[in-house]
Amino acid sequence: MKTVISLSGNNDFFLSALATCELLLRWRRNSLTSSLILTVIFWLVVVLPVSANHSQQTPKLPIPFEQHVLSYTSLSTQKTLHQTSGSKVAKPINFRWYVDEWPIMGTEVSARIHHDQAEEARLLLKHVREEMQRIDNTYSPYKPNSELSRVNRLASQAPQKVSDEFYALIKKALWVYERSAGAFDITYASVGHLYNYRKAEAPTDDEIKALKPAIGSVGITLNDRHQSVYFSDERIKIDLGGLAKGYAVDSAITLLAKSGIKHASVSAGGDTRLLGDYVGRPWMVGIKNPRLVGASSNNWEEQQVMKIPMINEAISTSGDYERFFIDDDTRERVHHIIDPGTGKSTNEMMSVSVIGPEGFNTDPLSTALFVLGFEKGLELIEKIPGYEAIFIRRDGQVKYSSGLVNPE
Ligand code: AMP
Ligand code: MG
Repeated sequence: MKTVISLSGNNDFFLSALATCELLLRWRRNSLTSSLILTVIFWLVVVLPVSANHSQQTPKLPIPFEQHVLSYTSLSTQKTLHQTSGSKVAKPINFRWYVDEWPIMGTEVSARIHHDQAEEARLLLKHVREEMQRIDNTYSPYKPNSELSRVNRLASQAPQKVSDEFYALIKKALWVYERSAGAFDITYASVGHLYNYRKAEAPTDDEIKALKPAIGSVGITLNDRHQSVYFSDERIKIDLGGLAKGYAVDSAITLLAKSGIKHASVSAGGDTRLLGDYVGRPWMVGIKNPRLVGASSNNWEEQQVMKIPMINEAISTSGDYERFFIDDDTRERVHHIIDPGTGKSTNEMMSVSVIGPEGFNTDPLSTALFVLGFEKGLELIEKIPGYEAIFIRRDGQVKYSSGLVNPE
């Protein structure tokens, strides 16, 4: 499997227009690839050549300024590169896109389906809402009556029986925990629950010291026969925020596919799952410039550092701009991805995106790679077949996994 990538680069003169950098990927493993025509649009005058050898690829992105605004990976619906191939596809006359957007899980959800019946489309979008709301109600650590809150309250007293789904989520979390040597760890919440990004609150060093011994998924005992969860320490808390959104977008897409939908996208914050293509051409998924998020321009094009044509896949982006505040004293960025080793937010990466077949994997993997950083993160993703990653470090260096290479 090989994928062609192009990354346009650096132009100091146009720093504030960084989003004009474009990354185009061609998925060679995909059967559609043979018919895919890639056109790389270089908007800027100076282009940073990128070596075809990924190990030497560390192109630098200029980081013009910080914007303290939340934002997430978003989808382009514009007719961009693939209009030619798209125009060859005969579209049924009554088909159109139906879109719904709403806030959930502390982020924005957006669902888009291609349908020829307005009523049915609206009903399906309602079902998508309900399904995602159900997942939020079950796994929110902020809702006292959620299943997750029950487990957090009681699992250190006695093993707690959980649903098939809950059990599968914890199993997945433990799988990523092992693969990432503990970088992805849902017990980070033993300390993590003391962060409140909206109120700019972080635990003190003493609080971290007192609770850090409770971090470590080795403290979680699962019993397959009883499907129960037990915590070996009463200070242990878990939080599934690192994988619940990826799971939720997968669930929504499964629901739509079962209802006969052929083209759809569902995004929750930085997690997107696509069904089919964008009717005759790929979806264009953007990766935001982490330091251009919320810039004065509302132009989607301008805010992306990369655009990726994708079909029937998932992409998750973990970014230090999603939930954060700047500490008044240290001027450090305190954000929502916590290094389980320190109980504090990590400071190497700005953004990590993972692309692959399922959001249930791309979501926890992007969080894991974010904690692991450039070197170890790359090492891990190379070992997971079918998944690729794009890393943007705080200093603007970019790296991507070996399935993504320069176009000839
Ligand atoms: P994402 O935006 O998918 O990268 O996930 C970030 C979310 O994952 C945070 O909001 C937390 O709920 C959770 N999280 C933070 N740090 C970790 C970690 N080290 N391991 C697992 N989950 C984490
Ligand atoms: Mg994630």
